[in-house]
Amino acid sequence: MESLRINLEASDIPTHWYNVVADMPNPPPPPLGADGKPVTLEQMSAIFPVNILEQEMSSERWIPIPEPVREIYRLWRPSPLCRAKRLEEALGTPARIYYKYEGISPAGSHKPNSAVPQAYYNREAGIRRLTTETGAGQWGSSIAFAGQMFGIDVRIYMVKVSYDQKPFRRSMMKTWGAEVFASPSQLTQSGRDELARNPDSQGSLGLAISEAVEEAAGRADTNYSLGSVLNHVILHQSIIGLEAKKQFERAGDWPDIIVGPCGGGSSFGGIAFPFIADKACGKTPDLRLIAVEPSSCPSLTRGAYAYDYGDLSGFTPLMKMYTLGHDFMPPGIHAGGLRYHGASQLVSQLYRDGLIEARALPQLATFEAGVMFARAEGIIPAPESNHAIRGAIDEALRCKETGEAKTIFFNLTGHGHFDMASYDRYFAGQLEDYEYPAEAVAASLAHLPKVG
Ligand SMILES: *Cc1c(COP(=O)(O)O)cnc(C)c1O
Repeated sequence: MESLRINLEASDIPTHWYNVVADMPNPPPPPLGADGKPVTLEQMSAIFPVNILEQEMSSERWIPIPEPVREIYRLWRPSPLCRAKRLEEALGTPARIYYKYEGISPAGSHKPNSAVPQAYYNREAGIRRLTTETGAGQWGSSIAFAGQMFGIDVRIYMVKVSYDQKPFRRSMMKTWGAEVFASPSQLTQSGRDELARNPDSQGSLGLAISEAVEEAAGRADTNYSLGSVLNHVILHQSIIGLEAKKQFERAGDWPDIIVGPCGGGSSFGGIAFPFIADKACGKTPDLRLIAVEPSSCPSLTRGAYAYDYGDLSGFTPLMKMYTLGHDFMPPGIHAGGLRYHGASQLVSQLYRDGLIEARALPQLATFEAGVMFARAEGIIPAPESNHAIRGAIDEALRCKETGEAKTIFFNLTGHGHFDMASYDRYFAGQLEDYEYPAEAVAASLAHLPKVG
C-alpha cells in the first residue's frame, strides 16, 4: 500500500539551519536606529544576547544547530510530511497535495523551532529571565515550554482579545511555569498609555511587543524574545523546509507550489526559503511560493513598502518591510497569530523582488477550508493554518479546471485544539468577514516614521 506519511529518523534532523540572506538577489536594507543610521550590535544588545544578534546579522548560508537544541528538537522532530490523498479525492483534483505537520510539537505549532534555540542562546549568555508577547498564545506557550527546558523564567504579555478568547493557552503557559498578563497591562508605560487612550483596547501584537521590550530594556537580568519577523527566527524555522526537502526526495516527488500562512512570516520563510535557493539559482524556475494573509490584516498585498517600527510604541529599530503602519489595530479575527501590522524584512524583500507571491483571504473561506480538511484528513488545524489550506485548495481546484497534476505543498503550522471556541462560532454562523479596514490603514500609514 502506498505510504501517505513520509517519516525521517532522529538522525535526519538537520545539523545546520539555512540562511536565505546568502542567496537573495537583493539583501534587505539594514535596520535603522533612532539616529537614522544602521543599528549596531551594541545597540541591540540591551534586549538580545550577542550570540543571537550574530545570527540576526549573518549572511553565512549554513549555521550549525547546537547539540543541546537538536536534543530538545528530538522530542518531536523530524515532523512528518503527509500526502492529503483523501482531500485530493474530496476535491476531485489531479493535483497531489502534501503538508508538513508542525502541530506535533509540545506547544502544538512550529513556534518551538525558534523558542528552543532562543532559550538556549539566552542561557548560554547568562540570562535567566525572558519577556515576550503572544497573540493567539502559540508563541507564549512555545517560549514557556522552551524556558522550562533550559531553566529560564518567562513573563508573557498576551494580546487582550486572545487572553479572553483562549483561556486554556494561558493554562498551558502556566503549566510550563510562565507568568501571563493581558496586554495592554498596567505593568508598563506603553500599556498604561494605551489604556488611558482606549480603556476598552483589545490590544495588538505591536502593543504587546512594546510592553515586553520596555520591560526587558529596563532590566539587566532580562532579555526579550520575539516569535517571528526577525532574521534569526526565520533562520531557526528553516528546519521545516530542510526536512521537507529530504522527505520529498524520499517520496520521489517535488513541489510545484508551496503555500504557507503569513503573519510575521517565520513559518512561511521556514518552509519556503530552503526551496527558494533552488529557484533563485535557476534550478526550479517555475516553483511558486504563496504567502497567505488575512484580508483584514493584509500587510503584503495592501501595505506600504517602507521603514517602520516592529512595535506600536517605536522601541524596535526601523525595518524596511511591507507594513500597514505600526499603530494599525487589526480587527479581532480568530487567527490571532496573523494579526501583525508588517511582514518580515526577508519575506518583504523577496516579495518585492518577485520571488514570492502573496494573497489575502477572508476569514469565513479559511474556516470552510479548515473544516473540509479536518473531515478529509482528520487533523483539526489552527485558524492560522486554515489560510494555507484555503490557498492550497484554491490551487488544487485550479488544477482541476486545467487538468494539471501539480504537486502542492502547504505548511500545516499547528493544530486547532485550543481554538475550538472559534470553530463553534463558525458553526453557529457568528463569524464574520471583516471589510478591509481602509480608513484605519490610511490613518496608520500617515504615521509612518520619516526616514532619510
Ligand atoms: C504564529 C502562527 C502563525 C503565523 O506566524 P508566522 O511567524 O507568520 O509563521 C501561523 N500558524 C500558527 C499555527 C501560528 O501559531
